[in-house]
Amino acid sequence: MVSVRELFRTMEYGPAPESPQAAYAWLDEHGRKFGLFINNRWVYPEGAHYVPSYNPATGEVLAETVQAGREEVDQAVSTARQAFETWSRTPGSVRARYLYAIARHVQKHHRLLAVLESLDNGKPLRESRDIDVPLVARHFYYHAGWAQLMERELPQYQPLGVVAQIIPWNFPLLMLAWKIAPAIALGNTVVIKPASYTRLSALLFAEILAEAGLPPGVVNILTGSGEVGAMLATHPDVDKVAFTGSTEVGRTLRQLTAGSGKRLSLELGGKSPFIVFDDADLDSAIEGVVDAIWFNQGQVCCAGSRLLLQENIAERFLRKLKARMNRLRVGDPLDKAIDMGAIVDRTQWETIHRWVQTGQAEGGLCYQPDIPLPEKGWFYPPTLITGLDAAASTVQEEIFGPVLVSLTFRSPAEAVELANNTRYGLAASVWTENINLALDVARQIKAGTVWLNSTNLFDAAAGFGGYRESGFGREGGKEGLFEYLSPRGMPRPRPDLTSLGLDPATNRPRGPVAWGEHIPGRPARPEAVRANGYASPRIDRTPKMYIGGRQVRPDGGYVLPVFDPQGRLIGQVGDGNRKDIRDAVEAARRAGPAWASRHGHHRAQILYYIAENLDVRREEFAARLVEMTAVTHQAALEEVEAAINRLLTYAAWADKYGGTVQETPLRGITVAVNEPVGVIGIVCPQEYPLLAFVSLMAPAIARGNTVVIVPSSLHPLAATDFYQVLDTSDVPPGVVNIVTGDRDHLTKTLVQHEDVDAVWYFGSAEGSYWVEYESACNMKRTWVNYGLLRDWMSSEQGEGEEFLRQATQVKNIWMPGGA
Ligand code: NDP
Repeated sequence: MVSVRELFRTMEYGPAPESPQAAYAWLDEHGRKFGLFINNRWVYPEGAHYVPSYNPATGEVLAETVQAGREEVDQAVSTARQAFETWSRTPGSVRARYLYAIARHVQKHHRLLAVLESLDNGKPLRESRDIDVPLVARHFYYHAGWAQLMERELPQYQPLGVVAQIIPWNFPLLMLAWKIAPAIALGNTVVIKPASYTRLSALLFAEILAEAGLPPGVVNILTGSGEVGAMLATHPDVDKVAFTGSTEVGRTLRQLTAGSGKRLSLELGGKSPFIVFDDADLDSAIEGVVDAIWFNQGQVCCAGSRLLLQENIAERFLRKLKARMNRLRVGDPLDKAIDMGAIVDRTQWETIHRWVQTGQAEGGLCYQPDIPLPEKGWFYPPTLITGLDAAASTVQEEIFGPVLVSLTFRSPAEAVELANNTRYGLAASVWTENINLALDVARQIKAGTVWLNSTNLFDAAAGFGGYRESGFGREGGKEGLFEYLSPRGMPRPRPDLTSLGLDPATNRPRGPVAWGEHIPGRPARPEAVRANGYASPRIDRTPKMYIGGRQVRPDGGYVLPVFDPQGRLIGQVGDGNRKDIRDAVEAARRAGPAWASRHGHHRAQILYYIAENLDVRREEFAARLVEMTAVTHQAALEEVEAAINRLLTYAAWADKYGGTVQETPLRGITVAVNEPVGVIGIVCPQEYPLLAFVSLMAPAIARGNTVVIVPSSLHPLAATDFYQVLDTSDVPPGVVNIVTGDRDHLTKTLVQHEDVDAVWYFGSAEGSYWVEYESACNMKRTWVNYGLLRDWMSSEQGEGEEFLRQATQVKNIWMPGGA
């Protein structure tokens, strides 16, 4: 027995254990054996295989759960489809009540949910009780609000249909809420698959849904392996796949869903920087580090796992940090006085340990405090590795455990460079008392969330999601809603890809791959020409390509003929190749930072100027359209007029789509900034050669992107005439680059280019498939039309917010305030 006097001397914590009894009682009620939750009922498939769920802190088996198979996947999807018919037509105000009810029931079972989560995952109860479960309720409340407002605030949108959701094990319940709440609020129905390590809280949540009276089939919960995730993602009757997990599986899902017309959102891994400048409040920053990397044992996608310290404070900071690490308490997750619980599973523990060994092999100095760890269970000490090179794999790769690596920098510019020296872009923390510096750095970091003098803040009102290989799409905030909506009247495309002979297991063509194989200088000639020869070769001018503000000849030195619909030769254009695309991407990348940082007003001025110059040459462009596409003069003039108008529309938007203030509980301000995506490759449709070109270029550049455009390959001359308009309109070199040539070949090069951030493709269903499939190389964003024609003349289809959204990515900056 420790005396009071002794306690005062050591300031030692006493144990503060939470009883697991209520959770055990719930497990016992189910005989510690769980089925699948389909149509609001427990389904126990005949002959099914059951797998144990362990408590990683003790190794005890908590319960057994079913491995679903193909049959259950079909059953759950068709149940969700049936439910969609009613749920999508249920008034938003009624759906809102269900979501409120779910939130209330989550609150009622708050403690049980938290204890079960900690038992199954190993996370400290302090976190599951005070962070995870309250945020779960908050997500349902917040999205209940959007259900209520949907008809009035989003009248031009409709739900997508059946959504397959696949979630990881690090925040089993919270990820489930992030996924389910927006989906059902907006009228979709759901089949969700929890991660194998952590299935139990999803099953308790299933009961809560039924208790809250949610109509059967709206949410279905399938436990199963990663294979079940793949079955769901490839199910023909699923309209959208929402995934959180590793970048590797995200890449697989991108490939498996390519060309299907399914929507996809991916929340992937990260290696987030935690930057401390020399004027920061160091003690607060130390607590920030604890929260950034030891919250949830570092098993957090946005964990601040790369500590970047200004050189002149590094030594002092690390000394303080080690002292703090010596006081961290690792132990029983149900003890409310511990800082870190258990790692979710032995396999993860081993991976973490291997990384630490790698860090040491790479020359790092490893520090682990000499603190007691429980003898049983998968506990890992807080770990700091210093002295590594910025290129070391331990610095570059996600470890997903309580392991922090630390580097130093001298100037803000170097801090930004190091911060961005990663393939990821999920989050960042910036610590400084200088608001100018903080905001300047926040704007330059490529990440979906930046916390100033804070870390790991989340709320339903602020979207969360990545840049670059951390994925695309947002969860939370108004921006997150569009992941579950499509424009009204534009149902999911269901392209026919039989010509590709896809293997259903891999979604790859079975035969040899032919996409984009192009022999330069051997253009396909129209039938008429093959039969009759060139009827009227009367053009001697060869329009060039437009790269970096200069008219350039194609690298390969070949040209392609351009015919009118009667098969007459009306011109020739450069036959661009891989090198031309590379040059164009380089030019676009170089022009990017200056263009993005221009004030919207300046970009608007340039768009007005382009419009003005096009207006001056309207007759010339109309004549070109008549010549190329044989439209009437009147129709051609209308197309030119629409193009001018579109330029004016995006000039208008250039300074009106900057972002919003998010209403999070933060004392301070959370702002959502709509940032440019970066370099966008645009492949124009064949139809409306001028208008479609302008309709795609204008929103992209209005919002600060730079572009590489492949114009209509049948009718490219409007685009090659257009660079003369650009030349006279003060468009900075490299902002717009135009490469003519074989569409498939150029598209393939664009989409495989690692330095292109997004590709917009308006062409065939097959081309759309390839664009989506190949985009997995660097997880670039894609926007494709699956071969469907758009009415570019109409303002519903040819312009609008959809274009602006595609041209931007949201960064949420959290700025705490207070004297
Ligand atoms: P995984 O990507 O392995 O698993 C995530 C989910 O996908 C699980 O449900 C898993 O099922 C399932 N899955 C596995 N293989 C496939 C497949 N081929 N097709 C479809 N689904 C599949 O990640 P972890 O669960 O290991 O989580 C850790 C990773 O997730 C980390 O890299 C972390 O950065 C990232 N993550 C990202 C977050 C974000 O918001 N960006 C949040 C949380 C984690 P099963 O469990 O049965 O294998």
